[in-house]
Amino acid sequence: MSDNVGALFTRTAVLTGAASARGIGRATATRLAVAGWAIAILDIDEDAAQAAAAEISSSHGGPAIGVGADVSDEASVDAAIAKIEAALPPMAGLVNLAGISSPTEFMAETVEAWDRVFAINMRGTFIVTQRVLRGMIDRRYGRIVSISSISAQRGGGTYSKVAYSASKAAIIGFTRAVAREMGEHNITVNAVAPGPIDTDIMGGTLTDERKAEMSSDILMGRVGTRDDVAALIEFLLSEDAGFITAATYDINGGLQIS
Ligand code: NAP
Repeated sequence: MSDNVGALFTRTAVLTGAASARGIGRATATRLAVAGWAIAILDIDEDAAQAAAAEISSSHGGPAIGVGADVSDEASVDAAIAKIEAALPPMAGLVNLAGISSPTEFMAETVEAWDRVFAINMRGTFIVTQRVLRGMIDRRYGRIVSISSISAQRGGGTYSKVAYSASKAAIIGFTRAVAREMGEHNITVNAVAPGPIDTDIMGGTLTDERKAEMSSDILMGRVGTRDDVAALIEFLLSEDAGFITAATYDINGGLQIS
């Protein structure tokens, strides 16, 4: 993106859940590094977060760090964000990607498993967003993107079931309500709702057969790639997206027409 030219690596983007090698977060972190963002990867797997940051930094030249944190734990997030604040330029972008799937059918669902899905997918987004917003509000600038899902709109239908679907629907309400409070601080808050994307979150790496099966109702005739989603997030983090807030962007190849 051209908006960072001349201001290379003066702003940091924090990405949660961006350590996994085949995940949407990793692809997004790489794109943002190429666009001139300093990168902070916050993931439950500290070693993988550090390895991902080292790889991004050596391939693209800019600063990147990886920190370990459980997004559902406030103290763990607080410590991780403090580390990022000490090491990198001011945080101007946040992408909430940390999440888990949940293929349990409703009548087999337990309160413990339900709470775990909500703790990571929704409470984690709340905790990280609130912590990062402190600095953004002080600096009067920020771009926040959180990952919902087509499951929120269609009630599942790909892999995960009720708990996941409900937690991802919560992300949409969260996004709209936080956006309402953040406009006056010059901070945009948006969500993206991907359809099936070729990562490992739906019970492991997708076989060609599973991809073909999932693609049958997709207008574009294929499942999405990590880079399809990364490109949209990169745009929503850019200066050019300053008049977009409280929005949820479908990115599903036409599987869901809203
Ligand atoms: P992914 O590679 O599994 O990414 C999720 C990441 O979150 C992993 O690195 C995972 O670490 C991390 N994580 C899990 N629990 C965490 C916690 N408590 N604290 C911090 N990090 C944690 O899968 P993905 O497909 O890229 O998913 C990224 C986001 O997109 C998720 O929110 C997902 O729900 C959403 N999404 C995906 C699709 C799709 O089809 N792929 C569609 C719609 C929405 P570990 O690997 O170590 O567990």
